[in-house]
Amino acid sequence: MPAEPLLTVENVNFAIRGNPILLDVDLRVTAGEIVALIGPNGAGKSTLVRIVLGLLHPDSGQVRLKPELRVGYMPQRLTVADTLPLTVQRFVTLGTPAPRERVRTALTEVGAAHVLDAPVQAISGGELQRVLLARALLREPDLLVLDEPIQGVDLNGQYELYDLISGLRRQRGCGILIVSHELHLVMAATDHVICLNRHVCCSGHPDQVARDPAYLQLFGIEGVRTLAIYHHHHNHRHDLHGAVVAAEHDRDG
Ligand code: ADP
Ligand code: MG
Repeated sequence: MPAEPLLTVENVNFAIRGNPILLDVDLRVTAGEIVALIGPNGAGKSTLVRIVLGLLHPDSGQVRLKPELRVGYMPQRLTVADTLPLTVQRFVTLGTPAPRERVRTALTEVGAAHVLDAPVQAISGGELQRVLLARALLREPDLLVLDEPIQGVDLNGQYELYDLISGLRRQRGCGILIVSHELHLVMAATDHVICLNRHVCCSGHPDQVARDPAYLQLFGIEGVRTLAIYHHHHNHRHDLHGAVVAAEHDRDG
């Protein structure tokens, strides 16, 4: 029998002051699976995330979470008041009390142990994203919900973060719902892509979605070009380690 999904969204509709934001949206995440929710700005991605988290209630449709599911959430935006002196350790435990050693362990897991005692205002964008991820991990989540986790990070840092996220899935076996406005960045690690523009335009395996006319129409030539960049990068990375690339080399050479 297939595992019970961690999360099931069925036929969700949501409007703000009569303005439809989500139309008949379906979504499912099972344990050990990475599902990417992609779509342009204003597509309703963060709204859907808030509905999943129970922060907003759909006008119709259903959201079901597996009983006693623990969810770790990394929000899209987080502003830390500049004037408030706050170390990373304090910041991470504000909503989720945890002993220092657990905070250190979570930061180590995301490669940011060195900022434990740094003022949170003083760390880089990439470090802040890792700190937010560590904060989500402190809950020992069965499901990780990451809303545009690579924002404000340079391209290299973005790939590193995605490697990190797919590593978390491997090691922890949790399900991951990751939001992005670009497909190429999430492709490598993703099992299932849902392309959202208020309604689900298309969904499936990333390669399948990348060729879908609905995807191409939504993202246009830009999407195709960035996809090419992604493929280049992917080959390059595997060059150093793996058999997949040896095959590509044979073909190229
Ligand atoms: P995405 O995360 O895909 O960029 P959002 O879910 O944040 O999109 O927003 C979807 C749409 O809903 C946007 O057009 C946005 O302007 C609108 N919206 C979101 N929140 C509100 C709100 N509180 N009041 C009015 N409109 C909103
Ligand atoms: Mg958003």
